[in-house]
Amino acid sequence: MRSGGLNCNGRCVQGYPTMSVSVFDVFKIGIGPSSSHTVGPMRAARTFALALGDAGLLGSTARVECRLYGSLAATGRGHGTDVAVLLGLMGKEPDTVDVDTIPALIEAVRTEGWLSLLGSTAIPFKLATDLRFQTGRPLPLHPNGLRFTAFDAASVPLLERVYYSIGGGFVIDAAQEAGAVPDVESIAPVLPFHSADELLEHARRLGCAIADVMRINERHWRTDADIDAGLLRIWEEMRRCVHRGCRSEGVLPGRLGVRRRAPALFQALQARPRVRGGDPLAALDWVNLWALAVNEENAAGGRVVTAPTNGAAGIIPSVLHYYAALTPDPDPQGIIDFLLTAGAIALLYKENASISGAEVGCQGEVGVACSMAAGALCAVLGGSTTQVENAAEIGMEHHLGLTCDPVGGLVQIPCIERNAMGAVQAINAARMALHGDGRHHVSLDKVIKTMRETGADMRSKYKETARGGLAVNIIEC
Ligand code: SF4
Repeated sequence: MRSGGLNCNGRCVQGYPTMSVSVFDVFKIGIGPSSSHTVGPMRAARTFALALGDAGLLGSTARVECRLYGSLAATGRGHGTDVAVLLGLMGKEPDTVDVDTIPALIEAVRTEGWLSLLGSTAIPFKLATDLRFQTGRPLPLHPNGLRFTAFDAASVPLLERVYYSIGGGFVIDAAQEAGAVPDVESIAPVLPFHSADELLEHARRLGCAIADVMRINERHWRTDADIDAGLLRIWEEMRRCVHRGCRSEGVLPGRLGVRRRAPALFQALQARPRVRGGDPLAALDWVNLWALAVNEENAAGGRVVTAPTNGAAGIIPSVLHYYAALTPDPDPQGIIDFLLTAGAIALLYKENASISGAEVGCQGEVGVACSMAAGALCAVLGGSTTQVENAAEIGMEHHLGLTCDPVGGLVQIPCIERNAMGAVQAINAARMALHGDGRHHVSLDKVIKTMRETGADMRSKYKETARGGLAVNIIEC
C-alpha cells in the first residue's frame, strides 16, 4: 500500500504507516484546541510512557525530558501542546480524559514539581527545563516533531523516541518510519483505493455508493452493527459538542479575550422560526451557529471530534446538523452514509496530500473538511458518485492557497469563523454539483494534487507558525 505526506521541504515522504484506512481513524473523539498540536502530542507522550513500561524502565526512570520542534515549538503554547504532553505522560487519553479535571492536574505539576508517569510512577518534572520549545530547525520528516528522553538517577539516558504529529491526531514513531514496523498486510482493505478514480471505479464496478465501498472495507475490522453504532456515537458526540457550545457563555482562554458568540446567536435564532420566516437565507444563521458552537468548544479545550482535524472540527457537524434539521427526509442511515462518504474523501487527502496546517496551510484543514462535507452531503441528498466527486472537488478548489495564520498562535482567529464559512461553502458546493450531471473539468484527484503542490510552495510563515498573515497584522490586546 502506498503512503505519503510532505516533509519540511514540501517533498513527498513515502512510508508513513498507512493505518488510516478506517473511517474511525478520521473521526476520533478528542479534546481541543488542536488535533496536531494537542491530540497528537498527547498520544505521543502516552505512547512514550507506555514504551518505558513495556521496557521495564518505569522504576528506574528519574527524569523525562520532552523537546518540541517546528510548528509545535512556534505555536505549541497557544495550542496547549505543553498541557497535552503532561497529560499523555500521565497516561491520559484524548477520548476519555475528564476535561473538567485537566486544570487541576496541570496546576499540581506546576506547583508541586512532580508528575505521575502513567498515574503510577512519580518523577520530578520542572516545566521550564523538562519541556522545551525548540525553535529553530525542525526535525527532518515533518514540521510537528517531538523528542522524548528518559534518564536514570545518574542522568544516563534510558530510552529516547522521536514522534511526529502529522495532523488529525495521527502520530508516527520515527523508528517505525524507518521501516521497523508496520505489518501492512494485516490492515489491507478489501477494496483498496489510492485515488478518487480508483474509489469511483470500485463503486461503478459494484454498482454501489462510495459509502458502501467504505463499509465493505470497514467490515475487515467490525460487524455492520458495530460500524453503525460507532458512527452514531460519533454523531452523538458532535451533537453534544454543539449543545455545550450553544450554552457555554464567556471568554475563550488566551490573551486575545475572544468572547464566545454561539450562546447569544442560539438564543436569537430560537426566538424566531427556522426557515419559513420570510428570510430566505435564515438557514445560514443556523449553519453558522452549529460551526461556531463546535469551534468555540474546541478553542476552550472541550471535547470535540476530529473531522478531519480539531481546527476544522466544526464543518462536518454543522453540515450534518443542516442535513438532519433542514433537509426534507433525513434519517439515521443518511447520517451513517454521510460519515462513511466523508471518511473516504478524507483518506484521499491524507494519502495524497496532507491534512496538516503545518504542512500545507489551512487548505489542508478547513479546505479538506469542506471537501468532505460537500461530497458527503451531496451523497445523502441523492447525488451520483460522479456528482459526489464533483462536490468534493468544488469544496477544495475554492480553498486552494488558504494559509494558516492563527493570531497569537491560538485556534480562534481566523479559525472559528472560518469553519462557519467552510460549512456554508460545503452546502453550496453540494447544491452546485447536484444541479449538474457529474461532468466537470477539474477532477478531485487533480485538485488534491494541486493542493499538495500549493502547500509545498507556501512559505513556512503561512503554515501554523503564527509568523505571517493575520498573525502578524493583528495587534494583540
Ligand atoms: S488557520 Fe486553519 S489550519 Fe490554521 S490553526 Fe486555524 S483552522 Fe487550523
